[in-house]
Amino acid sequence: MTTTLRIAVPTPLRRAFDYLPPAASPLPAPGCRVRVPFGRRTEIGVVLDHAPSALAPERLRPVLELLDSEPLLPADLLALLDWVATYYHHPIGEVMATALPVALRRGDPARPQRIQRYRLVPGISPEQGRRAPRQAALIARLAAAGDAGLAAAELTALEGAGWQGAMQRLVAREWVVVEAESVLRAAPGGEMGLHLTAEQATAVAAVVASLGRFGAFLLEGITGGGKTEVYLQAVAAALAAGQQALVLVPEIGLTPQLVERFRRRFAVPMAVLHSGLADGERATAWLAARAGEVPLVLGTRSAIFTPLPRLGLIVVDEEHDASFKQQEGLRYSARDVAVVRAHRAGVPILLGSATPSLESLHNSATGRYHHLRLSQRPGAARPPTLGLIDLRRQPLDEGLSAPLKASVERHLASGGQVLLFLNRRGFSPVLLCHECGWIGRCSRCDAHFTYHAAERRLRCHHCGAERPLPTHCPACGSVDLRPLGLGTERIEEALARHFPGVEAVRIDRDATRRKGSMERLLARIQAGEARILIGTQMLAKGHHFPLVTLVGILEADRGLFSADFRASERMAQLILQVAGRAGRAERPGEVLIQTHHPDHPLLATLVTEGYPAFAQAALAERQAAALPPYAHVALLRAEATQAGEPLGFLESVARLLPPEPEVQLWGPVPAPMERRGGRYRAQLLLQSTQRPQLQRYLDRWLPLVEGHEAGRRVRWSLDVDPVDLF
Ligand code: ADP
Ligand code: ZN
Ligand code: ZN
Repeated sequence: MTTTLRIAVPTPLRRAFDYLPPAASPLPAPGCRVRVPFGRRTEIGVVLDHAPSALAPERLRPVLELLDSEPLLPADLLALLDWVATYYHHPIGEVMATALPVALRRGDPARPQRIQRYRLVPGISPEQGRRAPRQAALIARLAAAGDAGLAAAELTALEGAGWQGAMQRLVAREWVVVEAESVLRAAPGGEMGLHLTAEQATAVAAVVASLGRFGAFLLEGITGGGKTEVYLQAVAAALAAGQQALVLVPEIGLTPQLVERFRRRFAVPMAVLHSGLADGERATAWLAARAGEVPLVLGTRSAIFTPLPRLGLIVVDEEHDASFKQQEGLRYSARDVAVVRAHRAGVPILLGSATPSLESLHNSATGRYHHLRLSQRPGAARPPTLGLIDLRRQPLDEGLSAPLKASVERHLASGGQVLLFLNRRGFSPVLLCHECGWIGRCSRCDAHFTYHAAERRLRCHHCGAERPLPTHCPACGSVDLRPLGLGTERIEEALARHFPGVEAVRIDRDATRRKGSMERLLARIQAGEARILIGTQMLAKGHHFPLVTLVGILEADRGLFSADFRASERMAQLILQVAGRAGRAERPGEVLIQTHHPDHPLLATLVTEGYPAFAQAALAERQAAALPPYAHVALLRAEATQAGEPLGFLESVARLLPPEPEVQLWGPVPAPMERRGGRYRAQLLLQSTQRPQLQRYLDRWLPLVEGHEAGRRVRWSLDVDPVDLF
């Protein structure tokens, strides 16, 4: 028998492929990239291992080219990715491709590129750029960075994409010098750690005592309770021990403020991995981490796949956040993979949140995680008080009740800022003809068009379709078209009427689409010029608004009656995240929640007793209904342009294995929004109280699903531990 290479090739097929070693070179080690023929194409694959092949050598094709002389993927990462492929039942080749930075995935050499680093010429001040605000902002940033300067990647993290033009002009004027460097430079660092509160000290001590061995810690700390300080001091201990630390944050949580806090604290090279990085920058940071040159890695979801030879600690901030779960391709949860990685590496993991996921609370209750708490805000800031406004039979003025309007007035009069939260952008979710009842609907989705008043357009928020606002009803010709329901634009307009002369800013995806507009709006808020903030969940995380004293939640009811079993958990988390923006400074905050269901047990518990009591009640409901975390689920989704095909496919694959007592199959049923983007969608739910049983079932079942001929007419995907059932 000949020795062959088992190679992961990026294809949708759930297996590895055998190749002959390249003719003239040594046998490539596992983790090396190779170029291989695949069908009529060539692909970049990763060597998994060497094995004698049962196939005759003349039936095997040789590797075309060896791309790495030493493994690009170290053994521990390779093993972790193998676990990921097995657990999520995803093709190993696609898992490898997901884990590699794009540049390395397409075969670029594993050499760090030289990094562009910018430094301010001594004597230059923001004053000199005052006629060009963009340039002035860059000068201020570089001045703050001092001698260390800023790398291109750091500038992108701080300034967002698109700073290069202004920077080029600064370089041309010789106000800034740019140098190419091969490794990341140290951050300024040097800021002293705060004197910890007793609760913080307990939390830091617990994690630090676990350095060098596995331990999972759930840090449940109210917003403003000082979780970040706990992360900083735990990371400091790991760095002091010569280890590398990995900090994962949600998409929206990777704010300049957070990056700054780490940069000010640690005088070490730091890689910031986020979706705005250029391919070369990401690959360079990844390679530097792999070489052990970067002690601190801060990043969003995919940073969990960074190679770290001296990994000593993983921190996951806002561990409940849904953005840790990838929603397409490899549907992994970075938080869950992080726990597995910490376990395999024998290092502690710290999961922090003001509103932990029910999964993590359950793991704490069963003793798998150590539960740490921060129940008070350090310093003078008091947590806000929560209250409900009963909307039943109240006159509503564009969604604002009289008690809420009165509170807004009171807080404005006493000099506070007001934040109003509505998680729906646009003017109204529906446009209706008052004459005949016609409603603007997307032709490709089972959904209404949202009416956007500023741009005078109708838009589908599900597939992106849009069209100009009709001047008259397409069905009857009437001009009496009326917006139905509330969006942030409509609230903004209503407030301008109620509070003329009071500056309001709206923060949602529409208002912040243009480059720099988010920064401009935030600056109006920080300066206290804008008095009212209206926003979607973009406002809920990461930002601190010390002057906000009143938070109004305009609508809390949607989360109470959704088909999705996680909706109430998400609603509670979002309400508390938004509430946490209030009263961060000396002034106490007030949070008012408008609802038609003030007696709803979960909502009432949340308001009167807080999140821990809410979570207890929600967990009891989950247990009674045998839902996660008391059961384990996987969802097989299918979609096709032909109605009926997805359901037919799922019906036939549901019968591929004989029924098993431990694994229940529910459905198939049409997806809650059956048609989306022109495709019909259906889903089949698999459920078991025993994770291993569910996994074994999937092991046996998926190859059959894959081989099923009806699968050729649909697009299907498996989602293990889905976060939403849509
Ligand atoms: P969280 O991340 O839990 O919302 P932060 O870490 O942002 O809270 O802390 C909130 C505020 O409290 C910050 O301004 C922080 O500087 C301050 N803070 C945190 N820990 C302490 C401490 N031990 N002593 C004084 N101030 C603290
Ligand atoms: Zn009409
Ligand atoms: Zn649509």
